[in-house]
Amino acid sequence: MATPSSPDPLSSCFEATREGVDTILQSMNQELYHVKASAMREVARAAFSTAREAGGIIEVPEQGDVLHNILHALHRLPCERSSGVSLDSLVTAVDHMPRYGITPRTLILPRTSYYDLLLSHSKVNPLSVYSLAGHHELHDLAVESSRFLLELSPTEIPDEAGKRMGVLYLKRILVLHTQAIQSLKRLLMRPPEAHALVEGCDEATQKALGMDWDVAASGLAWTAGAGASAEGLQSELLKLEATLHCEECKNALHRRVQDVGEQWANVKVRARDEAKPQSLF
Ligand SMILES: [Zn+2]
Ligand SMILES: [Zn+2]
Repeated sequence: MATPSSPDPLSSCFEATREGVDTILQSMNQELYHVKASAMREVARAAFSTAREAGGIIEVPEQGDVLHNILHALHRLPCERSSGVSLDSLVTAVDHMPRYGITPRTLILPRTSYYDLLLSHSKVNPLSVYSLAGHHELHDLAVESSRFLLELSPTEIPDEAGKRMGVLYLKRILVLHTQAIQSLKRLLMRPPEAHALVEGCDEATQKALGMDWDVAASGLAWTAGAGASAEGLQSELLKLEATLHCEECKNALHRRVQDVGEQWANVKVRARDEAKPQSLF
């Protein structure tokens, strides 16, 4: 048997000194994890029943970091070293759970530390977390992580991720985006307000601004995605100012652009807040 090379600090979460431990698991990189078998099997009866036992040590064909994550999920125990846990190892651990008789959706539940840890990664990597959630039918996690998917255009979703999450979850992303784009179109429909006629700015001049606005707005409705920033929309619309000579028209344009920016920011916040479990499907 190979001697342990530099042991992963994560294995120290399951040291022999923990109270009540009666079983030893060994990872592929020869790290030892001491566990209480009865506590594990309370939450997943068949846990590790397929792993190979050798001399009282159960050999688990996983890297230490992956085994570490599975054990935390089984023990419903927060990890004090979670800052050293990668998203990859969290995802792999969930994917491999069924190999050992563990059904992920019975363990990765809201308010568990594993769930929170995955969710904390979804801000930076929403697609990985969302695809994992879809694949294993972790509904709540899918909904909560989908908040961050507005920034990603559906056309940027790789085929592999689409296949992995499944058609229902892919549809959910499309619905989120479609709703946001429809709100954007409604927002852009109204041109800047007309002002009382003054010298140098007659009805025709103001009408021209309205038409320019319509052209810019329909362009944006086509090109800006659901992930467009309020600032981006505003700077596009403010380009119309270059053609204006009337101060009142300029003011009206600025007021309208300000309004579009504020309302669009609200739409995005609302889309996220409305992504509650009951409205998922
Ligand atoms: Zn740990
Ligand atoms: Zn004017």
